[in-house]
Amino acid sequence: MPTPTVIAIDGPSASGKSSTAAAVAAQLDMIHVDTGALYRALTWLALERGLEDAAAIVDAADAGSLHLTPRDRRLIVVAGENEDDIEEGIRSERVTAGVSAVAAMPEIRSWVNRRLRVAVRASGGAVLDGRDIGTVVFPDAALKVFLTASAEARARRRLVQRGGAPEPEEVRLEAELLAARDRVDAARKEAPLRQGHDAILVDTTDMSFEAQVARIVELARDRGLPLG
Ligand code: C5P
Repeated sequence: MPTPTVIAIDGPSASGKSSTAAAVAAQLDMIHVDTGALYRALTWLALERGLEDAAAIVDAADAGSLHLTPRDRRLIVVAGENEDDIEEGIRSERVTAGVSAVAAMPEIRSWVNRRLRVAVRASGGAVLDGRDIGTVVFPDAALKVFLTASAEARARRRLVQRGGAPEPEEVRLEAELLAARDRVDAARKEAPLRQGHDAILVDTTDMSFEAQVARIVELARDRGLPLG
């Protein structure tokens, strides 16, 4: 089987990775995978079932057939034989608050990584966004980008996305929450959040969404991607 073409976009919470990766994938006619959704799905399952132990969580995921499936040029996480959509559940505040602790467990990470490698190989490649895609999951990725922005810029964008014009105090509080999640992700032993030595830093603090997408598409095209 030929090596899949992988574009890895890693970075901290709310750096716009998912929407950027989706737009990059669309422009390059590739598939997009939001890998945080898998950690969120396992966290959602753990909360639903009251499970704390990693082995019990992955057993429940296998038994409940939590898996990735192609939908509209994306691979999304679904549950059960009927491929139920769990998008709403995995984006809840409860899941957001608990996901970093679940994602720190080695057994959880290897379950996710196995799923990702199989699904991406079967698709012939993808644009993936996450925390450790270029450093751990696909170290041979054809292009690795580390996408970041100041905590304040990320907090403001997130609040604007939720609607309205946020007050400075709201931005400050949201920036603290984001920074706390980044600290947990960066401090964990297993696959911590960090910029790989071969990843290209794209700091979007003063960049528009269109400009950051164009920059990554340009980096991909410079490398002759997608292949074939
Ligand atoms: O990207 P998102 O914020 O949805 O990811 C949720 C959480 O999943 C992150 O805070 C992080 O703990 C974890 N994650 C990870 N490795 C990835 C993607 C996400 O540890 N590749």
